[in-house]
Amino acid sequence: MIEQLNDLLNFVKTFCGDICSDVLKVMIKESSEFLDEELASEVNAGINEVRRALYDLQSLGIVTYHRERDEKDGKFIYYWYADIEHLNQLLLQRKRSVLKRLEERLKLEEENSFYICPHDEIRLSFDEALENDFKCPRCSASLEFIDNYDIKRRLKELILCLQEEVSNEERSFTR
Ligand SMILES: [Zn+2]
Repeated sequence: MIEQLNDLLNFVKTFCGDICSDVLKVMIKESSEFLDEELASEVNAGINEVRRALYDLQSLGIVTYHRERDEKDGKFIYYWYADIEHLNQLLLQRKRSVLKRLEERLKLEEENSFYICPHDEIRLSFDEALENDFKCPRCSASLEFIDNYDIKRRLKELILCLQEEVSNEERSFTR
């Protein structure tokens, strides 16, 4: 789960920025409810930046809030928390798409043979190599056939491992 979480935090960082991932980290670690000003002081950022981050995270479906009316002035107070269930679903979705990419890559490796330039590691499929008269498009050296057995084996291992994770998690959601 730790590895998955880091994965998710990186994903959030890439798509919504550092403050989003910092805010989310705090929310997951404590797994309780937070006021926006509490989060701002935890991550050492301005209140408006933190609010923006919270709305970004909300639009990804990762955090949500409940609100209560302040008895003193009648304004709403927002209590934010991480939606762990949805977070797990999101991770599962990402795994499925990685799995799909790996399967496509394996198919490509299985349906093609490959050639490589011994000087600059350019790798071409048979069709590409044929188009270039089996010469490197960069330095014109003769291309050499390479066995992609190791690549295929590694891909198969990854695919099996991911398939197992995905089906375990699917089971845990339908329980
Ligand atoms: Zn070359």
